Amino acid sequence: MNYFTTNISPYRLKNLNVIECDNGWGSVCIGGIACVNKSDFRTYIMFHEITHAWIGGQVKIKDNSKGEFLLKESLNEYLMTQFLRYEEGDSLYQVQIKNYTDNYDKYLSKNEDKSIWNITKYAASTHPIIMYKQVILLDELAQKVGYDELNSVIFDFLRKTMGQKIEATQFLNVLKDNFGQPAIDYCEKI
Ligand SMILES: [Zn+2]
Repeated sequence: MNYFTTNISPYRLKNLNVIECDNGWGSVCIGGIACVNKSDFRTYIMFHEITHAWIGGQVKIKDNSKGEFLLKESLNEYLMTQFLRYEEGDSLYQVQIKNYTDNYDKYLSKNEDKSIWNITKYAASTHPIIMYKQVILLDELAQKVGYDELNSVIFDFLRKTMGQKIEATQFLNVLKDNFGQPAIDYCEKI
């Protein structure tokens, strides 16, 4: 929580309660409660839910907007990996990125690739695009422009737009304005 408090904003509620639950359908973060499925507890999915206390919690994303999952889930997952990188160091982070790449490659061998713009509903079949593909692409961009540089532009954007309902196109424009060609290349791949 300190990582996101420092980089985005202090947590607005008094407490964030992380609860282990057994609801049979997954994990979720609503209000001051991150309800984490038994099987996800103490895994990176728990950190994904805590990150949602900011992304989707304090930073609002416009429902049904074009590419909404790029912000709602992909950016959330990317920022969670940046927390891991900050907290656990680069080698664990690289293991995590390899995990995304392996999972995405497995998906690619069975299915056709999709653009995040065409995803209007979160479903199991869209998960590899939303989570794995987008995190890999954002990581690629970070390798080109610098992790600290990319993260600082992202955090700055989130701080400045707090209180608004943001859309993916705004996010991409900020990346293009700050990083030029590498960001244009990223936008073409998503
Ligand atoms: Zn999520």
